[in-house]
Amino acid sequence: MLPKKIFKIAALSAFVLILHPSCAYGTSDKPADEKKDESSTENQQDPVKFTNDELIGKGNPTLVGKDYKLLPEVSKQLELMMADARKAGFKPWVVSSYRTYSYQNGIWERKYKGNLAKKMTAINNINKIIEYSTIPGTSRHHWGTDFDIVETTKGVPADPLHEKHFNEGGQMRGFKLWLDKNAHTYGFYLVYTNDKDRKGFKYEPWHFTYKPISQPMLRAYQKLDIKKLLQENKLMGSENFTDAFIKRYMDEHLLDVNPEIK
Ligand SMILES: [Zn+2]
Repeated sequence: MLPKKIFKIAALSAFVLILHPSCAYGTSDKPADEKKDESSTENQQDPVKFTNDELIGKGNPTLVGKDYKLLPEVSKQLELMMADARKAGFKPWVVSSYRTYSYQNGIWERKYKGNLAKKMTAINNINKIIEYSTIPGTSRHHWGTDFDIVETTKGVPADPLHEKHFNEGGQMRGFKLWLDKNAHTYGFYLVYTNDKDRKGFKYEPWHFTYKPISQPMLRAYQKLDIKKLLQENKLMGSENFTDAFIKRYMDEHLLDVNPEIK
C-alpha cells in the first residue's frame, strides 16, 4: 500500500469514527471482518511498512502517546476508544505499551535471576517465565500495536494485571464487558483469550492488539528465522533453547492466539 493511500484510509476511518464509533469498519453491508482483512492484505504487501528489526524490538518506529508509546494509527484509535470508555463512566489506564528488545531483556533477566534464587532448574525457570512473559525479540509489545489496559474507578490495585479483577465480581468486570462489546469496533482484539484449549501464554484480559497492523506483522514475523535469532542472541538460559523448545514456543506462544487476529 502506498503511504498516501494509508493516510487516506486512516483519515477516512478517523472521520467515520468521529461520526459514529461503531461504524468504523461497517458502513456497507459487507461483514466487518472481511473489510478489515482487505486492508491487512494490502499492508502485508507493502515492503516498507515495517522492517525486520521493528518486528523484534530493535527498530526505531515512530511512536506517539502521552502516557504510552504506540504507532500513530494505533494511538489514534486507542484515544477514540478511551474517550468513549470515559463517556461510559470508566477510567481506562494503559499500563504497558511499546517495549524495546533491551527493555524486554531487562524483564527476562529480572525474572530469570529471581527464579534462580529459588533454586529452580534452568528449564523450569524458562517455563515459569514464559507463562506470562516473552523471550526478548518475540514480544508483540515490540510492534507498537499491542498494549495492556486496565480500569481504575475503584482505585489502582497493587497487582493491576491480574485476571481476578476482570472476572465475575472483580473491580474491572464492567470495563471488561464494555471492551468485549466495543473494542473490535476500533480495531482492537484480545490476544491471549480465555479459551481452555488455547496453549501458550495464559489468559490476559488486559492485553489488546490493533489487528489492521498487527495481523500483517504476525505474518511477516512467521517468515523470520526465529530459531537463528533466539540461538544467536545470548540471553540468560538461552543454552536451553533447543530446536524442539523453539518450535513448541513458536507454535504455542506466538501462534496459538485469538483466531480472529491470525
Ligand atoms: Zn501485554
